[in-house]
Order: sequence, then structure tokens, then C-alpha cells
Amino acid sequence: MCAQAVKRIAVLTSGGDAPGMNAAVRAVTRTAIDKGYEVLGVMRGYSGLLNDDLVPFTLRSVSDKIQLGGTFLFSARSLEFQAEDGSGFRKAAETCRKHNIVGLVVIGGDGSFRGARALCYEGIPTIGITGTIDNDITSSDHTIGYDTAMNTAIEMIDKLRDTTESHDRCSVVEVMGRNCGDIALNVGIAAGAVVTLVPEVKYDMQVDVIDRIKKAQQTGKKHFIVVVAEGVGHTEDIARIIQKETGIESRATILGHVQRGGSPTVRDRVLASRCGYKAVQLIDEGKSNRVVVVRGDKIVDLDITEALDMPRTFDYELYEASKVLSN
Ligand code: ADP
Repeated sequence: MCAQAVKRIAVLTSGGDAPGMNAAVRAVTRTAIDKGYEVLGVMRGYSGLLNDDLVPFTLRSVSDKIQLGGTFLFSARSLEFQAEDGSGFRKAAETCRKHNIVGLVVIGGDGSFRGARALCYEGIPTIGITGTIDNDITSSDHTIGYDTAMNTAIEMIDKLRDTTESHDRCSVVEVMGRNCGDIALNVGIAAGAVVTLVPEVKYDMQVDVIDRIKKAQQTGKKHFIVVVAEGVGHTEDIARIIQKETGIESRATILGHVQRGGSPTVRDRVLASRCGYKAVQLIDEGKSNRVVVVRGDKIVDLDITEALDMPRTFDYELYEASKVLSN
């Protein structure tokens, strides 16, 4: 009787890093070992599959990682992997077969999920987990890293507020989120921003920015926070126009990559842990080409293509509320 080949589950982090990715890697590793699989950590996203850079993991390989931001597997964006002739996908699938990988967990964003789908078409079972601070994955209410990024942004804005207040200034703060205004909207509400600009809603500089600030000035307000989403941009110009039109000294601050770092919040750690656990369960059930998402308080899975094709949504009701709250 021939011995059964060892079954291995591999895990990688891909695209932009996000706090909580390590917690997800830990959850995948521990769940897989519990179910009798061996685990391989793939270094630097899909590049690790092309370069055969895989590390065997034990339960202890993921000790002391849950509290760390970034990704200890490192992340990368690989052009070679997505070569148009499909050679990158074939080479990566070959590495998976060589190591007897019966399931690959990909932690990343939409681009990474497209890669996971391509590998599934090459015969490698793949499951995606949402790791991105931008919250721009429509199929999921929240993504791993989003909560931490918002908390980092608010901490920074609270500090800015001290100095803004001391000098009766206006701080125009750009937060991340690429083309998704979720970070800006929620941080704008939490920071008490007088104006929040998001890519989902067109704005008129005079009506939506200058007039609002002047109206608040008339009620005695002396210092102002304006939150601008990355996808809106022109933050320096907006600050310059506010100063010119209102006479309030205005400063632009672009928070930038500081929002991608730091220890993940409880919420992100738990979300990552639940998603990692679910991903391995799916592989164990023989499922592939699925993405693990949050719907309400449930962790569910969807077909990757179905998830990628979902139209973008935005909470316009909350956006309207934010305007009233900032009056
Ligand atoms: P994210 O996952 O954060 O959206 P990227 O778009 O940068 O980040 O993609 C991360 C990885 O996924 C890259 O290594 C890239 O090779 C792969 N990838 C991106 N888009 C595709 C695609 N359309 N098909 C296959 N692989 C892709």
C-alpha cells in the first residue's frame, strides 16, 4: 500500500499591506495544522511562487505575530506573475504542484483575487481573504486593516486638532482609501470635520466648502477640520483656496502611509482570525475560487468572479448625516 502524499496548505499576502494580515496568516496556519495539513508560508506574494520561496510553518512560526502590523511574509506586486501569455500563472501553479499544495490562501485585495482566480483556472484550489485598509472590496462590509487605518487616522487628526485649535486655523487632512471614500466619511464624522470630500460625491468648491466654512464661522466657530479622501486629492489646492476665500490660515496635511502601519485593532485581529479559520474550512471542504467576506456579523464565502463583479456601493445616507452633524 503506498503512503498518502502529505497535503499542504500555502498562504501568501499580496498587494498593499494591511494591519491584521499577520493575524490572518496565523489563523490559517493554526487551523490548517489542527486539521492535519502541513503549512507553507509563501514569501513576497505571487513572486514567492515564481521563485519557489516557500517556508515550512509550525504552530510556533506564527507565535507573537497577531499584534504586529505589516506582513511578516512580506508583500509584492509581481508583473511577471500576470504576464499576458499566462506563463506566470503556469509557473506559479507548477510550484504549487511540486509542493503538493492542495489549497492556497491569498490575503489581499481585488488584484490579488484576480491572481487567485487565474491560479484556480490552472488547477490550484484558491481562497481569498480581504486584506486592504481601503475597504474597497464591495462584496465585504469590512476588510482586514480598515478599522486600524481609521483609528490611526483619527489619532493623527486629534493631534492636528490641538494645534489647529491653538492657532484658529483650518487643517485640510487627506486620508487614504484610493477611490473609496469609506475611511474619509467615517473619520470625518469621528473627527467632527466641517467638510468631508469623498470621490463618490461630486463637490462644488464654493457651495460645499467655502460657504459651509463661512456659515460655521458666523456661528462662532474658529478652527476647522476638512477631511479629503485620497481619491479626491488636490488637498494643497483646497487648503490654498480656503485661506484665500475665508481668510482663515489653512494647512494641508497628507497622512499617507502612516495609515497602513501599526498594531491591528481588536476588531481587525478578530476579523482576520475568523476569516483565516473559514478559509481553511473551505479548502478542507474541497471548495475553490471563493473569497471570504463579512456580511453583517457573519463570515460567508462567495465565488471570486461574483464578488469582483459586484457594483460599488457607498453609504450616501451616512454622508448626508455627516453634513448635518458638522453644522
Ligand atoms: P491588491 O490585491 O491590493 O488589489 P494589486 O492590484 O497590486 O493589489 O495586485 C497584487 C497582485 O495580484 C500582483 O502581484 C499582481 O500580479 C496580481 N494581479 C493583479 N491584477 C491581476 C490580474 N488582473 N490578473 C492576475 N493577477 C493579478
